[in-house]
Amino acid sequence: MPDILDTKIEYLKGVGQQKAALLNTELGIFTYRDLLEHYPFRHEDRTKFYNIAEITEDYPYVQLRGFIDHIQLYGEGNKKRLIAQFSDATGTIELVWFQGIQWMLSKLKLGVEYVVFGKPNLFGRRFSIAHPDIEPCVSGQSESAALIPVYSTTEKLKKRFLDSKAIALLQKNLLETVYAHIEENLPPSVIEKYKLLPRRQALLNIHFPKTPELLRKALIRMKFEEFFFIQLRLLMQMGARKQKSVGQIFRNVHLLTCFYKQHLPFELTDAQKRVIKEIFADMKSGRQMNRLLQGDVGSGKTIVAFICMLIAIDNGAQACLMAPTEILAEQHYNSLKIFADSIGVRIAKLTGATKLADRRTVLEELKDGSLPIVVGTHALIEETVQFHNLGLCIIDEQHRFGVAQRAKLWEKNPRILPHVLVMTATPIPRTLAMTLYGDLDVSVIDQLPAGRKPIQTMHYYDAQRLKVFAFIKQQIALGRQAYIVYPLIEESEKVDYKNLIDGYESVCRAFPDVPVSIVHGKMKPQDKEFEMQRFVRGETKIMVATTVIEVGVNVPNANVMVIENAEKFGLAQLHQLRGRVGRGTAQSYCILMTDFKLSKEAKLRIETMVRTNNGFEIADMDLRLRGPGDLEGTQQSGITDLRLADISRDQKILQAAREAAAEILAQDPQLTHPEHLPTLHQLEQKRKQQKNWGQIS
Ligand code: ADP
Ligand code: MG
Repeated sequence: MPDILDTKIEYLKGVGQQKAALLNTELGIFTYRDLLEHYPFRHEDRTKFYNIAEITEDYPYVQLRGFIDHIQLYGEGNKKRLIAQFSDATGTIELVWFQGIQWMLSKLKLGVEYVVFGKPNLFGRRFSIAHPDIEPCVSGQSESAALIPVYSTTEKLKKRFLDSKAIALLQKNLLETVYAHIEENLPPSVIEKYKLLPRRQALLNIHFPKTPELLRKALIRMKFEEFFFIQLRLLMQMGARKQKSVGQIFRNVHLLTCFYKQHLPFELTDAQKRVIKEIFADMKSGRQMNRLLQGDVGSGKTIVAFICMLIAIDNGAQACLMAPTEILAEQHYNSLKIFADSIGVRIAKLTGATKLADRRTVLEELKDGSLPIVVGTHALIEETVQFHNLGLCIIDEQHRFGVAQRAKLWEKNPRILPHVLVMTATPIPRTLAMTLYGDLDVSVIDQLPAGRKPIQTMHYYDAQRLKVFAFIKQQIALGRQAYIVYPLIEESEKVDYKNLIDGYESVCRAFPDVPVSIVHGKMKPQDKEFEMQRFVRGETKIMVATTVIEVGVNVPNANVMVIENAEKFGLAQLHQLRGRVGRGTAQSYCILMTDFKLSKEAKLRIETMVRTNNGFEIADMDLRLRGPGDLEGTQQSGITDLRLADISRDQKILQAAREAAAEILAQDPQLTHPEHLPTLHQLEQKRKQQKNWGQIS
């Protein structure tokens, strides 16, 4: 049976061919359904009248009732405008028109009571409303007044008289036509348990709410629905994958036991132990592991990665770790090598910078299986890299690799899929992670190694630099070391380098008897390495650097991180940088330096950093400030299809929707029970509408 919502929009009362063509091109509205889902972006509250005297700049919109005392034309030509003095019992306000002046002049009358609606602006000390909605006051209007939907439209549509009001009229016609045909698509048990409005009522009230409360409920219901179908699809995909993806079985733990008994450099945290257990369970399950490992900066992901590698080696397989940048690969290699050397396991590095001769050796040894561990950049996914038996891919992702790149890596074992562990140091809430990385299970290291003191974060203005220098002096006198980091942004690279060098010189002047290192991207790799090593050995006390050190060094004795122009950094990056200190037992400090003038967002970022060390909270705020648009995985996850729901603001609804989807699938994995058929039907419908859903982009 054809669905009435699939009817072409031109057949709707009040549309016709010409308007339909415009709605197609301007708003992408082709069918009844498209129009129904063209939700208002806000509602004007026409239930309340304000007194002119109570207007402040804070009101986005006000509705007034009163009389016009006086009408006058001002200016000539372009500057021509019509001003009406409008008063109620409490005061006077100006109504202004720049266009349609003749028409307004003919319409406005003295002595008639009007209802006026618009946005008040303050000019000098007087309020005015430009181009207000104005209509004669019909008696009883206040009772019939309501929440009026406001729809997005375009200039072109407005010129053809398809403004917000006209669209509202079309919506009214549409709802009259289709209301009785709108079918429920959520299972009755879900509606009941989560106390959701039925779909019909929700759609009606989202356009034309009877009360603010009903609008709220309608929004919740529709947001829930959006999340629910995404979660349903993800969970079904995951179920299907688990059924079919055969994985290598890793059971032997010979090397691992030896490492635990003799070489473990510290007691693992409970969180590390739990995560290793989860990973090991996957590895011996006979299915391919696809797991996301989240852990805040400094939570100890490296040793977890190494232990997983040992499990692979214990079972005759090889392991690789892929990092997004050269420096990060270098860092991983260095820290893993310490563990590997301790137990006598070979490890090599492969990046774009690897010399030809070394490269040849690495490639040969990977192919014949004599090299068990390789760490590298995307150089690892090149055709020439072949493994004897790749059993584990660890990917340090930080939102930089796409699913396609990941897939290239696991194709490196043509016989049986290698296990995949994706690591990320930007923790995001669990539900969100499950949505963004819908194809992955999630493990979280939610605990820092014992004995860490929380880093103290402070905000200073550039003018207070002497104070900051005095503080660094004090810390150096105590035997500690400090980082001073400068931003380096491609667009302003020249200026940034100059700032860095100027900064370095002023540090040298301020600390004449303290050895200072400088490291930046324009130095030769060996010079960089030399300076880094001097700082690591404690020969230099201050390291002035660009963000190359974001992921580059691990010096537990360094306890001060000064970030210059902190307003130029994003939250995730600030948090990463701060994570370079706080690795020893001494109290650590992070000092954010900024100009006196800060944008609202920059202020929020700085305040967030000062307030919390919690990576989850920071990621949350980051998401709220930037939106999910640039997070990896958003495309496949269906997040971009959300119309009403907001992944960061509506997390509670998301959580509930996921729970509901899981409950339904637990009872009925294929959705074949009669009461789930409408849900299944809707899911198929959506799949048809978005054919590339779930495809690897
Ligand atoms: P990240 O999760 O940021 O990659 P690392 O693996 O670099 O963290 O660990 C940060 C520091 O903490 C390293 O110096 C590491 O050796 C140390 N570390 C990791 N786990 C523990 C632990 N359980 N106890 C003590 N120190 C640990
Ligand atoms: Mg790390």
